[in-house]
Amino acid sequence: MTRAAPAPTDPVTAPVQRAYDRYGRQADKWQAGYRARGGKIFCGAGCFQCCNMPIRVSLAEAIITARAIDGAQAVAVEAHARAALKNARTARDDAQYVQRHRQEVGFCPLLDRENGACTQYEARPTRCRDTFSAFPAHYCAEGTWEAMNAREKREYHREVARTPGTDGEWHFIAPLEHLSEPVWVAASKSMRAAWGLEVWGDFWLLTTLAADAGFMARVQRGDGRGAWQVASGRGLAHRELLQIE
Ligand code: SF4
Repeated sequence: MTRAAPAPTDPVTAPVQRAYDRYGRQADKWQAGYRARGGKIFCGAGCFQCCNMPIRVSLAEAIITARAIDGAQAVAVEAHARAALKNARTARDDAQYVQRHRQEVGFCPLLDRENGACTQYEARPTRCRDTFSAFPAHYCAEGTWEAMNAREKREYHREVARTPGTDGEWHFIAPLEHLSEPVWVAASKSMRAAWGLEVWGDFWLLTTLAADAGFMARVQRGDGRGAWQVASGRGLAHRELLQIE
């Protein structure tokens, strides 16, 4: 397969890179203020409990990751994409899809399980940048929520409601997620302007397709149907995991 990563200054990824940088500065500033007011953020180096969540990205973001990874990681990413596809094809609903993704598809292949670090920290997608926890990692781990009884779930929600920065229901920090909205907008606009279409979907699936010269050639000439056919020919098309709009 030919690697098809565009140049670093290409009009699709450059606006996303700039939006990543802006987000980083704004998120750092917000966190400093939050901590100064007594807020706690439990995310940090070596913590990876959320790295087994499904991740939705734009193709613009996936190109950035595809450009960063080496051949061995590309193979692992494709295997992960195929496991996610298998799950999507058989899951009875979203809840089962997410649960099985976390349990069976498992941790992102870009995670270094030895030290808990993201091996592609600079090229990680938006969702990995804007997810922050106001509770200890135990609450982010797969199975914690499912193991709670009704009383523990009520206590959890009461504690979340008392914790500034959450949405009042879950323990993630809502303003840091909202701050990333311009990254999504930048990706949408740059794809639309350059290709006349947008491509969204599963992180590992799109990272695989971003390195497929045939797929990218069709995307770049605005041929959504042709791009879908290329993905389909490789067994990588699924309406929930690949959306060409
Ligand atoms: S890209 Fe990095 S931060 Fe995101 S899920 Fe994978 S290992 Fe975790």
